Amino acid sequence: MNVLVINCGSSSLKYQVIDSETEEVLAKGLCERIGIDGILNYKPQGGEKEVTKADMPTHKQAIQLVLDALVNPKTGVLKSLAEIGAVGHRVVHGGEKFASSTILTEEVLKVIEECNDLAPLHNPANLIGIRACQELMPNVPMVGVFDTAFHQTMPEKAYMYGIPYEYYDKYKVRKYGFHGTSHSFVSKKVAELVGKPYEELKTIVCHLGNGASVCAVDCGKSVDTSMGLTPLEGLIMGTRCGDIDPSVLEFIAKKENLDITGVMNILNKKSGLLGMSDGIGSDFRDIREAAYAGNKKATDAMDAFAYRVAKYVGAYAAAMNGVDVIAFTAGIGENASALRSQICQYFGYLGVTIDEEANNDNKDYMTISTPDSKVKVMVVATNEELAICRETVALL
Ligand code: AMP
Repeated sequence: MNVLVINCGSSSLKYQVIDSETEEVLAKGLCERIGIDGILNYKPQGGEKEVTKADMPTHKQAIQLVLDALVNPKTGVLKSLAEIGAVGHRVVHGGEKFASSTILTEEVLKVIEECNDLAPLHNPANLIGIRACQELMPNVPMVGVFDTAFHQTMPEKAYMYGIPYEYYDKYKVRKYGFHGTSHSFVSKKVAELVGKPYEELKTIVCHLGNGASVCAVDCGKSVDTSMGLTPLEGLIMGTRCGDIDPSVLEFIAKKENLDITGVMNILNKKSGLLGMSDGIGSDFRDIREAAYAGNKKATDAMDAFAYRVAKYVGAYAAAMNGVDVIAFTAGIGENASALRSQICQYFGYLGVTIDEEANNDNKDYMTISTPDSKVKVMVVATNEELAICRETVALL
């Protein structure tokens, strides 16, 4: 079956068509600047990437352009849209309602809508993408795969905040965690690669991308993760601050004469590597380049980034009373070998030793610790689209 995987943001939309039997990507791309002007990126398997300016005032028009590209007689990969057997949608927040992926019925969409409050930037956009696909492909089954679902196995002691219970009771204020599809995919792949049952392995996954989070996977279950009610908590990220003393909000608000929206904007969009480096950039490569050129703020930002990851790994080794495998994934985790090495220097007490030659290699799946290292350290390329495709097929 061919599965169309859709990851819909407020002004962008990523898509892939995957043949679920061979798991080959038949085509992939991105619609950008939806509602502004519109750019369609389309890359068929084995073909050249095409970038076209195309009017896409709404998501529906963007998806129509994607469908047109897929069946285009010259560069399309499908003869007709009937060859799409299902659509898998990434949905960011499923609240406490969804502990696994689900077929998208009208009832389910209402429940997702109820979670909009918890992810106001993401869920409404996800819903718009789902509705648009339903209109254009009314007879094709659709599945929602939630970023939060994998973490629904966390125990209360991990997900409850130290605030009055009434806020959980009334509004479900708690830690939810994100990147669940990636943490699940990577931890399963780790078990497969080390040849041990998933249910017997303690893995810590470090998903280090523009957004970043760490997850403790104990015997196949997420038992703790660094992101919280929203993706702002935890690690230092591209533009997000991660953990801070909440009093910082009040302090900055008073000093800078800002309201809560103004302060939240700073913590979400102007902090992290971008803020700490005094504006050099949110992209790790820019920070690394500046640090290597001797910029102290960039060096400090990189050091703080690494230190925060190491602290979470230490915390989760304690939470699980041990760890068998530490896995690095996502843009930074998969590519920044020197940073991986820097982070692993904190793990001497765990008996971790890194094979620097192996660490400098560049493969989708590799072990970077030495054979006698007490904890295995691996790099495992994440593939959220494939995970969504698999979930979709499994449900149908
Ligand atoms: P993601 O959110 O997973 O797409 O990851 C994006 C982050 O990965 C950005 O901060 C990039 O700078 C970083 N990244 C991508 N490629 C590399 C690379 N070759 N070396 C270091 N960082 C990289």
